[in-house]
Amino acid sequence: MRIAIGGLHTECSTYNPLLQQVGDFHLSQGSEVLPALAVDMPDDVASIGLSYANSVPGGPLTAQTYAQFKDKFLAQLRDTMPLDGVYLSMHGAVHVVGLEDAEGDWLSAVRDVIGTDVPLAVSYDLHGNVTQQIIDQIDIFAGYRTAPHIDVRETRQRALGMLVDHLRGGQKPVVAWAKVPVLMPGERSSTEDEPAKGLYAALPIEDSQSGVLDANLMVGYVWADTPRGTACAVVTGVDTRAALDSASRLAQAYWDARADFAFGVETKPLDDCLDDIAKLQSSPVILADSGDNPTGGGVGDRADVLDALLKRGARDALIGGLADAPAANAACAAGVGAQVELTIGATLGLGGPVVTATCNVVCVLGTIAGRNAEVLVETAGIRIILTARRRPFHNLDDFRKFGIEPAEQRLIVVKSGYLSPDLAPLANPALMALTDGAVNQDIPQLENKNRVQPMYPFQTDFTWTPTPELSARARNSGL
Ligand SMILES: [Zn+2]
Repeated sequence: MRIAIGGLHTECSTYNPLLQQVGDFHLSQGSEVLPALAVDMPDDVASIGLSYANSVPGGPLTAQTYAQFKDKFLAQLRDTMPLDGVYLSMHGAVHVVGLEDAEGDWLSAVRDVIGTDVPLAVSYDLHGNVTQQIIDQIDIFAGYRTAPHIDVRETRQRALGMLVDHLRGGQKPVVAWAKVPVLMPGERSSTEDEPAKGLYAALPIEDSQSGVLDANLMVGYVWADTPRGTACAVVTGVDTRAALDSASRLAQAYWDARADFAFGVETKPLDDCLDDIAKLQSSPVILADSGDNPTGGGVGDRADVLDALLKRGARDALIGGLADAPAANAACAAGVGAQVELTIGATLGLGGPVVTATCNVVCVLGTIAGRNAEVLVETAGIRIILTARRRPFHNLDDFRKFGIEPAEQRLIVVKSGYLSPDLAPLANPALMALTDGAVNQDIPQLENKNRVQPMYPFQTDFTWTPTPELSARARNSGL
């Protein structure tokens, strides 16, 4: 049995002006793909690694970037035919300049190559957007059931497992889905907090319904102003009626909960957060700079919090990190122990404050300035990790590399939405600042030219009932 594996995995904010280029991606090819996806393939299945491209979320992909990955992938796919099945790990929120439905385009192109008889399985991030074009190409769908995402590998394994079961003679799978006109930020729909916690806890119960294999709820991606942005329920089943009914139940439950989605931690404007923090005796306080979170599609270069801390004369704070290639490289070149005048912030195109400060260079990772420069500097009692590349600081090891023990800090500022599984247990307490940026949490105020209307919470006064749809392949299956 031969199954081809690969995919395209990133998340694109249309409010982020920094277009993603080929060099922003990590590309795994051939035998690198299976370990990159970390899935187990049964011994009797030959996995044919094609290519898997993933990046830190950001702005839309240039048309050239997308075309390069797609052309390479399709050429690899053609070369491996004939195949018994295809499994792709997709995020679902890729946005390409000039292309409305990137995943729909990608999966349609894959279907064109493999033909109608080869089953196509996909796994998705629950922050992906789904369209009828996507649904029409696939036979099997599985989405993450946790946010923060701690079931990535398990989700891939679910999709792959359904594919292998079918290829071993199991019933033909079909996909049904139902859109829900709701778009929530991930920070209001964490599966660790109600109502998402309860909604997602119901998915295994749906799985156990007769005729249902795998039930999913998709939050969708709110920071792309595109007609395809939507929440939805997507159900893989072996009975079309059961799959449609399950999708309808899940969609209705999500809709019914729309007004209950709320931030999981105390969330306020930045100044209010800093007022609260000044009064707190506990530590480490972890403050999320939510509007500029690179893992949500933010730019990651904004100095709003640094600027506010300096203006307040605050001390004993750690900002990890801030993407600023000129400042990181200047500090790196100056070397540990040097004092250097730095201009920090707003180097990548979306604006925000620019801070000028005399900084002491505390720690330089590596010795050569360049694309990967990362440096710890200090000014007026505030330490800042500057990086040449956009990147999150969401793991304890990200800080320990600089000799910083997160548990011993008074205040850590991270560019994040909900905190990562590493940082959340440490926070004493966690606060989220409603800062400006490409992933601003003030959803109703986002520019909204292209989304379908009505869409909660952009519009709030409307009624809705689920209209579940089958995939074209399911409609034609006679099941
Ligand atoms: Zn996600």
